[in-house]
Amino acid sequence: MSEPNNRDGAAVDAVVIGAGFSGLYMLHRLRDQLGLGVRVFEAAGGVGGVWYYNRYPGARCDSDGFAYCYSFDSQLLQDWVWHGKYPAQPEILSYLEHFADRYDLRRDITLNTKVVSAEYDEQAARWTVTTDTGETVSTRFLITGIGHLSIARYVPEIPGLAEFEGEWHHTGSWPHEPVDLTGKRVGVIGTGSSGVQCIPVVADQAEHLTVFQRTPQYSIPARHETADENFWREIKANYDDIWEKSRVSATGYPWQHNGKRAMGVSDEERQETYERLWRQGGVRFANGSFRDLVTDEAANRTVSDFMREKIRETVRDPETAGKLVPRHPFLSRRPIVDTHYFETYNRDDVTLVDVKATPIVELTRTGVRTEDTEYPIDVLILATGFDAVTGPYFGIDIRGRDGVRLIDAWKDGPSAYIGLQTANFPNMFTITGPGSTLGNLPITIETHVEWISDCIGHMRANDIREIEADPDAEKRWMAQVTEQAEQSMLSKADSWINGANIPGKRRAYVFYFGHFGHFRRLCFDTAEQGYEGFVLS
Ligand code: NAP
Repeated sequence: MSEPNNRDGAAVDAVVIGAGFSGLYMLHRLRDQLGLGVRVFEAAGGVGGVWYYNRYPGARCDSDGFAYCYSFDSQLLQDWVWHGKYPAQPEILSYLEHFADRYDLRRDITLNTKVVSAEYDEQAARWTVTTDTGETVSTRFLITGIGHLSIARYVPEIPGLAEFEGEWHHTGSWPHEPVDLTGKRVGVIGTGSSGVQCIPVVADQAEHLTVFQRTPQYSIPARHETADENFWREIKANYDDIWEKSRVSATGYPWQHNGKRAMGVSDEERQETYERLWRQGGVRFANGSFRDLVTDEAANRTVSDFMREKIRETVRDPETAGKLVPRHPFLSRRPIVDTHYFETYNRDDVTLVDVKATPIVELTRTGVRTEDTEYPIDVLILATGFDAVTGPYFGIDIRGRDGVRLIDAWKDGPSAYIGLQTANFPNMFTITGPGSTLGNLPITIETHVEWISDCIGHMRANDIREIEADPDAEKRWMAQVTEQAEQSMLSKADSWINGANIPGKRRAYVFYFGHFGHFRRLCFDTAEQGYEGFVLS
């Protein structure tokens, strides 16, 4: 079945879109293990996916670095040395560049090339993929490794942006040349993960920083100092165990909750549990304590109150602290990990503006004008997030059976059976597509990539022409995804996770918030049971 890797726009076995964590591993599996002819198209000028684009000051991983990597290559796990608990963006990018070189992947990756359309021909059972450089490739399998937040940055429609005479940059497409903030009056709009990461670093560089905050956020201190030499020795010695635990865990990390309900223990024990994890820092605070924080309101109130108190203890000015205390429940949005975020508001050269109380009216030529004040700004940073999930997919004109467009198939919300395939789009696979989990992403990506390459191997061995999601299985799965989210804290706040961050976008739950280990098992069980939930022909 293998087609030669053809550079003249003829036929290959598989086209992979994107050269981030997903696309790189997919290429390795299909080419080096199955011997397929594969082309990878990447819109950016280098490999790395989100880690190529998100190079704003302070950008770093907010999953523990030792677990935010590929698990399948035990030698790579020993060879690679992470410098810190939560590696900074340049380090993750160089890890992915190293991975591309280690497996000689670059020769099959075409950079600076965006896939603009993909159309399925039912007679031939092949996809025709067209790029913005005018190349057309025929492929049997189409695999998207475009992530959830890749290039669809969200720039709000603020009147006057076009006339603003200062510089402005979005965190998700930060320039490659250094942006000099020294002596500048800088404004940051947005306090999600990106804003919270960049605000302390920008404050160190700028003459004055003004933060325009719409919704206050919870954030967990990273505590980089807890990863010392002993920590790394232990990690390297125990990687097998780390992955074994991660693969069956609730969120893809090598730890579990403590099995207890928050209200089932004494006030002292609860407080001691939160304090201990808070001292350790990082995402483990969110998913390593009580089992019911995300499902039980009373349990959640205890952790939310604990975190609100930490903000009041850290921020010296009570009025500023009051603006920074969130009202929504912790874990109703994706948790954030920071490096001295709240401490930044103790600086005299940092101003916090609550734009819910006094909304931004416009950008003038020289600053940001809210309902009551004009703030002079030289450089404006938009940390305003992404048109998540649908943005990257709808940026490509994808047409399946009978010419049905993906944008129409997903008009009521994006959907895929266990995040992998959508009905009417045969032989198209979506790595961590809608309905997939959203915990530690590299391990979810590995689960999907391995599933897809096993599936393609199975099709080849059994002479199967097409595979696509069974529409009923897909519908049932997305109903379960919605039900799970509605019963949890996730229904209690608006964010990119449910599409509510983009004005006019249809609200929909697109991630499975059940147990990661169960999800992973389900993926492999469906395969073992003859691809139950999929239609093969
Ligand atoms: P985000 O979480 O969507 O945050 C966007 C921020 O911009 C919010 O504070 C939002 O306010 C604000 N905003 C949007 N439009 C606005 C407007 N018109 N006026 C004022 N404020 C406005 O985006 P993000 O921070 O880029 O993070 C997105 C996701 O990227 C994260 O959840 C995470 O999954 C990923 N990420 C990961 C890392 C990592 O370390 N691994 C780092 C950065 C990002 P509201 O809250 O009121 O909507």
